[in-house]
Amino acid sequence: MTNLRTWTLTSLYVCGVFGLLLSAFPAQADEKADLEQVFSIRKLSDSDNTEALKRLESLKQKQTAATSPKVRLETLKAMVSLYYDAGRIQSALDSIAELKKLAESERDLDGVAIARIMECYALIDDGKPDDALKNLLQIRTALHSNASAEVRTRLESALGSVYYITGNFEASLQHYLEALRLTDELTTRKVESRLYKLDAIAKLYTNMKDPEKALATIDEAFSLSPLSHSPKTQASLSISQGIALSAMQRNQEAVEAYKRALKLAGEAGLPTMAVTSLINISDHYLIMNQYRQAENYARQGLQKAEALKDKQSIAIARVNLGFALAGQGKIAQGVELINEVVQYFLDSDQKTDAESVLGELAAMYEHAGLYREALQTVRHQQKLSHELFRSDRAKAVAVLQEQFHAEQRQKQIELLAKENDLKDADIRNHRLQQLVTILGAIVTVLVGLFLLLLSRRVKRINQQLREANTQLEFHAVRDPLTGLYNRRSFLDMMKMRLAQAEAERRDVQENSPDCLILLDIDHFKQINDGLGHAAGDAVLMEVAHRLRKAVRDTDMVLRWGGEEFLVFSPKSHPAQTAGLVERLLHTVGGEPILAGEKEIQVTMTAGFISLPFSDVPESVFGWEKVLQIADMALYLGKANGRNRAYGVSHLRVSADLALPVLEADLAAAIANGMVELIEVSGPPKLEVAFDKMPQSH
Ligand code: GH3
Ligand code: MG
Ligand code: MG
Repeated sequence: MTNLRTWTLTSLYVCGVFGLLLSAFPAQADEKADLEQVFSIRKLSDSDNTEALKRLESLKQKQTAATSPKVRLETLKAMVSLYYDAGRIQSALDSIAELKKLAESERDLDGVAIARIMECYALIDDGKPDDALKNLLQIRTALHSNASAEVRTRLESALGSVYYITGNFEASLQHYLEALRLTDELTTRKVESRLYKLDAIAKLYTNMKDPEKALATIDEAFSLSPLSHSPKTQASLSISQGIALSAMQRNQEAVEAYKRALKLAGEAGLPTMAVTSLINISDHYLIMNQYRQAENYARQGLQKAEALKDKQSIAIARVNLGFALAGQGKIAQGVELINEVVQYFLDSDQKTDAESVLGELAAMYEHAGLYREALQTVRHQQKLSHELFRSDRAKAVAVLQEQFHAEQRQKQIELLAKENDLKDADIRNHRLQQLVTILGAIVTVLVGLFLLLLSRRVKRINQQLREANTQLEFHAVRDPLTGLYNRRSFLDMMKMRLAQAEAERRDVQENSPDCLILLDIDHFKQINDGLGHAAGDAVLMEVAHRLRKAVRDTDMVLRWGGEEFLVFSPKSHPAQTAGLVERLLHTVGGEPILAGEKEIQVTMTAGFISLPFSDVPESVFGWEKVLQIADMALYLGKANGRNRAYGVSHLRVSADLALPVLEADLAAAIANGMVELIEVSGPPKLEVAFDKMPQSH
């Protein structure tokens, strides 16, 4: 015990637990010892039923409510058996009732079943085999799945007995054989149980007109018998042997077998078996016409049967005695006894026995030469025989019907149970299916919803993406402040221009090259400084607007950077370009611009040039170099007083000569007369001009 709390609790309850252990262990030990005692008494009963019963009764007297129920149940089971063997039928019945009550109160299903099976034997003894069969089949139906081997073997045995009594020998054999098979699973009294079943099977074979098989079965049993050292079963087997031998008309041997049984029964204290043996011996002496011997054994049997108050045995012993006396010439005395018994049989509704006795009586009369009496008796016998035939037939039909119905019911119950199982399974299946369907529906709806949301989201995201892309695209090519194309878009355009076949373009652009005009706002820094950055922005936007307004639709206005702009005018003839540049300068600077709260004049200086320049292929003198010259022209404009533009229109000398100079220094190229220069003037000075802003630098 590692847990401190547990340890503490244990130590707290340790006294209580010890108390329990002290009381529980001896109780268990007691139970085991008590059970051993019951089993040893049963063992004793195999050889001395009288002594065993005495001990069992004393053991039972000592038992109290505190005695283990298991011990009490085993005691009662043993008592039933021992009382039966002692011929104390009522005590056996009382014990069965007690066993049933105890088993019921203990909820011992096996115990209850055993008691009910025992009740069925009582019903058989009571001449109610039909009721017994009905109950047995019911017990079988109600039997729980893990019923012990003892219960099952007892049940099969009882069914064997009831079918035996009702003459259904085939069914009887089946059940006895099943009972025999089940004895293998027994934990106690295995051999004894096997012997008992073999004995029953032997009797059955004799009744099935197969005494040889009966004898073989008995031999098999005898070979097992030493293992059990049970005089009780040996006595019973000897009786079965006698019956088989007598069926084979081996009367002398049969008598010897019965005598062995009688001896064993006497030793083992089994009066019922002794009575049976005595009566059978007297019977065989009668058959063998040994009347004195027959009388002797009949008297002994009668005496013992009377002691047992066994009415049936008393009746048979008296009949035998009557015939034995008659056989010795004491006919009146004998017939009186016989007739009394016939009357008893008739009164107790045992017509078969009465009829059989009457048949023997008629034979006896005949043997004695009393033909009138013989005839009278035969007539009586025949009348009974007819009645019996009718009632037997009715009874047999009733039994068969009952059997049939019982089996039908059994089948119906089994079928219903199966059907219920199927229905249960069906319902379970159905529920499962419903559940699956519902779950499926839920999943579908959820997935559907999810997909819907997802698709909406995707749509929204796509929309946003498209918008973002459009914006990106726009911003990629547009300047955010002025909305004009930006420098990047111009570079892209120039890249595409390079990819285009030179020859193809030359064709088209022979007389109309593109024109590049670079423009820069004059003194923009002062606007920013004087009116604020926002005013500067406003000016930038307005300038952009005016530039766009001044160009053709096909012209492209770009914000080159800061306050510099580039106009790309495709297919524009150099002669036309000066006009465009003039329009640009005048549109921007001809009208005042609202910058913040002030209206100001904003002028620009520009430099312009054609691309390709002066028919020099772009592969030789590309757009970058062309633009560089425009920039130099613009610088020239700034230097010469601003608000003006200079255009480099064409070369006056060969490109080889002019270009190296031009690239390095425009002013030098102009001075050397290498290029043709165009000058464009800006608008005149307006009155609204910003007072802080100097007009020239
Ligand atoms: P010049 O006549 O010689 O061109 O003089 P300038 O003042 O225009 O020349 P400079 O290049 O020195 O000044 C350009 C100024 O333009 C500097 C910069 O702060 C301002 N600028 C550039 N981009 C923006 C813009 O987007 N918004 C505003 N408000 N100002 C800008
Ligand atoms: Mg500038
Ligand atoms: Mg400037």
